[in-house]
Amino acid sequence: MRKTKIICTLGPATENLAEELIEYGMDAARVNFSHETYEIHAERIRNLKQARKKYDKPVPIIMDTRGPEIRTGKMKEEVWLQQGQQFILTAQEVVGDKNQVHINPPHLIKKLQPGTDIFIDDGKIKLSIKEAVNDRLICQVETGGYLSDKKGVNIPGLNFGIPCITETDRKDIEFALNLGIDYVAVSFVKNSGEINKLKKFLKSRDHSDVKVIAKIENREAVQNIDHIIEAADGLMVARGDLGVELPLSEVPGIQKKIIRKCNQLGKPVITATQMLESMNKNSIPTRAEASDVANAVYDGTDVVMLSGETAAGQYPIKSLQTLVDILLKTEQEIDYEKEYYNKDWGDFEKEVVNIIGKTATTAAYEISARAITVSTKSGNTARMIARFRPDTPIIAVTIDPRITRQLNLSWGVFPVEAEFVSELESLLSKLIECTQATSLVDQGDPVVIIAGIPTGLTGKTNMLKIHNMGDPIVNSSET
Ligand code: PGA
Ligand code: MN
Repeated sequence: MRKTKIICTLGPATENLAEELIEYGMDAARVNFSHETYEIHAERIRNLKQARKKYDKPVPIIMDTRGPEIRTGKMKEEVWLQQGQQFILTAQEVVGDKNQVHINPPHLIKKLQPGTDIFIDDGKIKLSIKEAVNDRLICQVETGGYLSDKKGVNIPGLNFGIPCITETDRKDIEFALNLGIDYVAVSFVKNSGEINKLKKFLKSRDHSDVKVIAKIENREAVQNIDHIIEAADGLMVARGDLGVELPLSEVPGIQKKIIRKCNQLGKPVITATQMLESMNKNSIPTRAEASDVANAVYDGTDVVMLSGETAAGQYPIKSLQTLVDILLKTEQEIDYEKEYYNKDWGDFEKEVVNIIGKTATTAAYEISARAITVSTKSGNTARMIARFRPDTPIIAVTIDPRITRQLNLSWGVFPVEAEFVSELESLLSKLIECTQATSLVDQGDPVVIIAGIPTGLTGKTNMLKIHNMGDPIVNSSET
């Protein structure tokens, strides 16, 4: 079983492909509210839900917010901006040309001083402000490039006083909640307070069951990383914006650091953007891209994400297949057992759930178990086992469909939904039945079973059973 999970971004290139994406290995779907209309998002989510039902796969939906983004306006046509030429950014709503373009939000212009650098379209174009005149910024083109409609703008270090969840985002989130999303990925988070505020908002809408992923895409977030990890349910190393907001040379090190910190706490972490960028146009990736994907796995990422490759590229399915191949091959190269025994787990907190996670992993290795099956109400116990990266699949049996879907984003976890049973012997039978149904195990295979007594409670995991598939649960002479 592949352990590293895959998010595919839905877009114009995946229209009618929801089933194929699931068939070829998409574990979660992202809808990006930076683009397109409510009607289109609703349609995509509907299609995805139909497909996941047909394939009986718990594919969660991640709603990605627009955030306090800055964008250039519409253009008459695509133009080439020549290095050295003058170019104007204006608050006025003009249609852009070779000399000027509108910038949104317009009030931003008042906050900018001569000497500031402005990056357009993931840094492909760089401008330097020479003069600020009323509602216009007169700039010089430092790095030339093509400019077309509505490109993203980065102004590193700028805090223009807009919270990461804007009014538009609130409306978008409300809309998306009604469509049944499982995660909100928050763009341009700056601190943990913003995550807590969003959680309060979700609670006020009766949706504290929707989890929050913090997208790390600027310096402030990197500086506040520890508190953000603590507050969020998962993280995204959003290398697209991160690589413009910070010197690109810092991004690989930050990626490793964030992944390490998330692994320590058992929070799912996503490595995102340009994983297979050249496959937007080509049917095979570059060698560097293949290595980048593999290295994210070596770093310990839970998830890798495809963005434009699936949303707008020419080879959405081929990109997914390529990613699956690289992930599987890389995982085969890693000796998880050796890494587990070599790692110093010395300072991990001695909470029962951690001890259970570690003991389950040790037991699985010692008896060469084919599965670790865990009864988990909130999903936390499954994540706390995944934290130890057992080579053995973690079959997480839950009673809540949303938690089942959310767990599909955790490394090594195979989530299964089942009915609630309260009595211990029935629970064990149920867990064994669910294990059997995954077809990851055969008769006679040893498995590790993790549960809690009393049953049905959160935070009460406290027992481990070693079981051979096919053996009875109750003493048959007594029945
Ligand atoms: P985006 O976020 O694709 O929504 O911009 C990811 C990134 O910035 O890397
Ligand atoms: Mn981004």
